[in-house]
Amino acid sequence: MPRVAPTLTDMSITDSTVVGGPTLAQERRIVTAIPGPRSQELLARKASAVAAGVAHTVPIEAVAAGGGVVVDADGNSLIDLGSGIAVTSVGNAHPGVVAAVQDAVAQMTHTCFMISPYDSYVSVAEALNRLAPGDHAKKSALFNSGAEAVENAIKIARKFTGCPAVVAFDHAYHGRTNLTMALTAKAMPYKSGFGPFASEVYRVPASYPFRDELSGADAAAKAISIIEKQIGADSLAAVIIEPIQGEGGFIVPADGFLPAIVDWCRANGVVFIADEVQTGFARTGAMFASEIFGIVPDLITTAKGIAGGMPLAAVTGRAEIMDATHGGGLGGTYGGNPVACAAALAAIDAFEHEGLIERAQQLGAILSGRLRELQASDPRIGDVRGHGAMIAAEFVDPVTKAPDAALTAAVAKAAIAQGVIVLTCGTYGNVIRFLPPLSIPDHLLTEGLDVVAAALAAA
Ligand SMILES: *Cc1c(COP(=O)(O)O)cnc(C)c1O
Repeated sequence: MPRVAPTLTDMSITDSTVVGGPTLAQERRIVTAIPGPRSQELLARKASAVAAGVAHTVPIEAVAAGGGVVVDADGNSLIDLGSGIAVTSVGNAHPGVVAAVQDAVAQMTHTCFMISPYDSYVSVAEALNRLAPGDHAKKSALFNSGAEAVENAIKIARKFTGCPAVVAFDHAYHGRTNLTMALTAKAMPYKSGFGPFASEVYRVPASYPFRDELSGADAAAKAISIIEKQIGADSLAAVIIEPIQGEGGFIVPADGFLPAIVDWCRANGVVFIADEVQTGFARTGAMFASEIFGIVPDLITTAKGIAGGMPLAAVTGRAEIMDATHGGGLGGTYGGNPVACAAALAAIDAFEHEGLIERAQQLGAILSGRLRELQASDPRIGDVRGHGAMIAAEFVDPVTKAPDAALTAAVAKAAIAQGVIVLTCGTYGNVIRFLPPLSIPDHLLTEGLDVVAAALAAA
């Protein structure tokens, strides 16, 4: 029997504001328990064929996705409030991305840019140089994943400064490769048992207004004092930070924190790297989150939303820093693959010309409005924060403010069982994050939040 979901032929679009995606009915539709029988079959095969370390959040066999839904092999249609971790921001299977990929893949699948260069890679670099914050001369290099972009940004900063040390922050997430595990703060599940880690990585406190109750200036002074006393600017290559910390809990730093860190870096000849892998490309209601905080990073790393779901990543930054590396010092077999670059050009066109920055702001208003309303009558929601379509709720003990990871997990699990894909995050595992595709229609977002609210009330 062909494993095609019956819903693929159900072509009704119920909301004309839907941008992109295959023409899947934009509805939550639960026709079996989750997981249904076909999904259970796949998950059983997964358990015997796929390494146990590769876990999953939503127990389904996904067969199609678009607009604001993910459809499974049993015909269930789930509301997508995760975008595959902030990746399908333009919408899953966005028609422009699909067409660009189909054209590109029929032309050539690979030459290796380091062997025979091609237009799409250069065009992506030009677009990134134009879009990244700051009006200085910029250059870019392309890679396959966020972690690889971060690794290369550190390599570039070390080569430019001639210094070894790197500062990362509490609650940071920068990836799962060896150097990026060292940069990542959280042991479980990202680092535990995977050492030894790369040396010359130093951790300092971040700004976490809900928990540290410090002003941005005070939090920055604390971090800078540790940097100066324990590391020293003269051995420091780079400071790397996510403008809004993603896996760490969608932590928005207090006003003034990031500008103070950037100013210190500039005054001390240290490269400031903004890791915009999760925050980039319209997600926060700006093309890049750095703009929200009025900072101009020396380098930014991007991935996730860049290519509508195709694997691509980049480092973009000041030309003199990017050019400090010797010829042949940067690259990789697949980095900037032509099919991924074609997808990125189509996705970037959508970010710029389909009103997706404004759409992220609208979605953010719906999300934070509803979550604040819930918070007003439920003190277990300690904090609601974020920007644009990157909003989170932090769950706590109302009296002690202690993180409530059990409640968080219970709410997320119940929402998923009811057909709403939500992701958790946070150093303490007590944050539910909302990252809807920017193609989601309002009614699905609202319904998804209704389901989460009901799950919370029942928990
Ligand atoms: C996801 C993420 C990474 C790692 O990206 P991969 O593509 O998974 O390697 C790095 N930094 C941030 C901020 C991320 O959110």
